[in-house]
Formats: sequence, structure tokens, C-alpha cells
Amino acid sequence: MTKQKIPYQIRLTEDELPTRWYNFRADMKNKPAPLLDPQTHRPMTLEALSQVFCTELARQELDDTTPYFDIPEEIRQFYRMYRPSPLIRAYRLEQALQTPAHIYCKFEGNNTSGSHKLNSAIAQAYYAKQQGLRGVTTETGAGQWGTALSMACAYFDLDCRVFMVKVSCEQKPFRREIMRTFGASVTPSPSTETAVGRAILERFPGTGGSLGCAISEAVETAVTNEGYRYVLGSVLSQVVLHQSVIGLETRAALDKYGVRPDIIIGCAGGGSNLGGLIAPFVGEMLRGEANYQLIAVEPVSCPSLTRGRYAYDFCDTGKVCPLAKMYTLGSGFMPAPNHAGGLRYHGMSSSLSQLYHDGYLTARAVEQTAVFAAAETFCRAEGILPAPESSHAIKVAIDEALRCRETGEEKNIVLGLTGTGYFDLTAYARFNNGEMSDLIPTDEALEESLSQLPDVSDAAF
Ligand SMILES: *Cc1c(COP(=O)(O)O)cnc(C)c1O
Repeated sequence: MTKQKIPYQIRLTEDELPTRWYNFRADMKNKPAPLLDPQTHRPMTLEALSQVFCTELARQELDDTTPYFDIPEEIRQFYRMYRPSPLIRAYRLEQALQTPAHIYCKFEGNNTSGSHKLNSAIAQAYYAKQQGLRGVTTETGAGQWGTALSMACAYFDLDCRVFMVKVSCEQKPFRREIMRTFGASVTPSPSTETAVGRAILERFPGTGGSLGCAISEAVETAVTNEGYRYVLGSVLSQVVLHQSVIGLETRAALDKYGVRPDIIIGCAGGGSNLGGLIAPFVGEMLRGEANYQLIAVEPVSCPSLTRGRYAYDFCDTGKVCPLAKMYTLGSGFMPAPNHAGGLRYHGMSSSLSQLYHDGYLTARAVEQTAVFAAAETFCRAEGILPAPESSHAIKVAIDEALRCRETGEEKNIVLGLTGTGYFDLTAYARFNNGEMSDLIPTDEALEESLSQLPDVSDAAF
């Protein structure tokens, strides 16, 4: 193949928008361990899961054998408003780093919610509407998921109730206003609206809240209100499935120019963008067709893959959700305040956890001052203000590109640029003022929360 000049933005046409999502679980020999009922420790059935989630989404959650799911036409119509998303060849960053490596960024920040979360939000709202529900409940940490969901619910005319982690609500009042503008109601969590919220407030008065706690409140609200279900923006296999649109587009765009990635890097909160980005590539690895270096990047302040334990755990602080086997820091783990709100979850998607356990995926933990320094380098070179979450991936991509400068290797590096950082300017201010610090949990703190893992030795499956 003659070498074609690769454009700054590799754009696919609307017609090249994927028609199917890819479920890499179908190609896994070691399937992720089943979700367990928190009371009986038996695998969750479709019927039980459908009490909490929309039925079709519960079906997707439990399906680890069907490789492809058709994307309903209504969802594809919505995707057309902001997809296919650009794949950027970061020429200016390469130049700034003086690296022979080629860096590609899959940019998911080009929609009002500012992140990839809209890809799954619209799918979940669609299935809720199909089921004839009145509305959905959810939690949001940094606010990206709540914003995405409120956009999706406005599109399908569904009621949207968001429990927002209290500290984020205070730090990011503008996020709350976007959600309300799209018609959602936003409650700071923990709140006095739910039994679980009241219990948490009693135990930890003055707490700034956590994602796990907001999840518990949202679940309680869904199961105690007729016509409502709970939806979640990360961690679940259904979310990873919807996010596969990111990886499928990335591969289609790279294929156009005959580019084969060597390294694929994504930040990992609950694992959805990373799982989506790597989906078609890890599929090839699972089928023994190709090999790639896949890297998950997490904050040192919340290191579920690099320092967590692979075990069954609660997905939420209130212990009402099913148990998932995953790399976890313990559901009671309260990460130190870190500016990458989307990466503060205590666990990791069960399918990514299994891939990591089986050696398909590697992980690195990075410190937030280094992350913001990478964000600054990126921003000045490429003109995009990245989200702090995305900047974790940028940091490791820069490290790898600099390594290529040492070795002279022309590696192709693909990174998931999951969103923009316009609502993270308080964090940028701290960095610019030199006031940012790195908070690393002690072994004792981790041991303490890991000692609370549920005992599932009686589990029967
Ligand atoms: C939520 C979020 C993440 C982390 O969530 P994953 O499920 O791990 O993808 C990363 N980046 C941005 C911009 C986010 O909003």
C-alpha cells in the first residue's frame, strides 16, 4: 500500500456509522463472573434484574454469547447529531514531543454533554421509552452522565431524576443548570429523600457524598416509584456494549488509511469508554487474530486495578445493587478528593476486570499533578481543553510517545479523548496556582475497606 497522507481529522461519513454494537463477552473464553443477588448470593435472573433495570437492558446485561446487537434506527438517528466522532491525528502534539510515534485521539467531547456518556444514555432512554416507562433515576458524580442522560430523556420525553454527589453539585453548579435546562430534577446526595440517604447522613454527617451512595439513592427511588427504572452510566456490561460504537468507528477510520494501532490507551473509571474503545481490537485478541498493547489508566487516588482485589463486591455503598466480581477497593472506600470525578468509582466493570485478570489488558496509576501537566501540554499543542479524566490517558500516551523518542520506534498510539474540561476549571485553577496535591491512599486505608468485602463463599453457580 502506498503511504497516504493522513488528514488531521479522519472523518467517517454518516453512512459509515456502525449499524451494530459489538459485545466482546461473546468472544471471551473466561466469561465475566455472573452478577449475584445481594441477599441470596444466587446469579441474578432476568426477572430479578428487570425490577431495577429496563427489561431489554437487563437482557443485554446478562447476554455474554451474542456478539452483535443491531443499533435501533431511532438511536442511529440521534447518533447522527454528533457521530461519527472525529479521530484526530495529533500532529502538533507529536511535533511538540519530538516523537516518531503517531498519536491518534478519538474525540468524544463534541456534544453538549461533553463526553462519551451520551452514547449509552440515548440507548438507555430509548429502551425505557419502548417499555412505556414514565421516567428513569440515576446518580451522577462529576455531572457528565447526568447531563448526557437529561439530554437523552428530553429527546424521548421521559422524566429524569438525578442524584448528584453533593461535593460535585457544589463545585459544579453550572452542570446542574444544564441538566435542569434539559428538564431533569437534580438532588444533592446524600439527601433526606431516601431511607438510604438518611442513614448515610446519620453515620457520616457533613459528608460530601460518593458515587456509591448516590447510586443507592437512585436505585431506591426507582424501585419505590411506579413506572421508573434505574439507569447507570458506567460499570455495567450493557454500557460497555453501547460504548463499542467508539471502538468500531475508530477501527473503521484507521482501516481507511491502513493504520494498525500498536498501543491503545484509555482512562478507566468504571471502564465503559475503555471497554468501548478497545472492543473490536480485544475481540481480535480474544479470537487469536491480532495483538495490541491495551492500557487502562487510573488515578493513584482511586487505584482499583493496580491496588484493588479481584473479588465479589457491592456496586454501591448502600448495598442494594447486585454483587459484581470485579477489581475493587471495597464499596466503602471513600477516595480522597480528586479532580477527575469520573474516575472515583471503587470498582471496575466485570468484563474489563476479567480481561485484566487474564492478561489482555494492563493498567497504570498516575498522579493528578502529572495528569494536569499532560493536559496543559496537550491543550497548547492541539487546542482542545481535555477533561481531567481524559487527561489520564493523555499522560500515558505522552509517556509512551517519549519512550518512542528514545527508541526511535514509529508506534501508532491511539488514545480515548473522552471529553472536554470546561466544567473542570476549578481544578485547572488549582493546577495553575500550584495548589494541587497528590493523595495516595495508604495500605492501611485500603486494607480497612477491603476487609468489608462481602463473604460469598456460599454462592451457588
Ligand atoms: C465518566 C467519564 C469517564 C470515566 O468513565 P468510564 O466508564 O470509565 O469511561 C472518563 N472520561 C469522561 C470525560 C467521563 O465523563
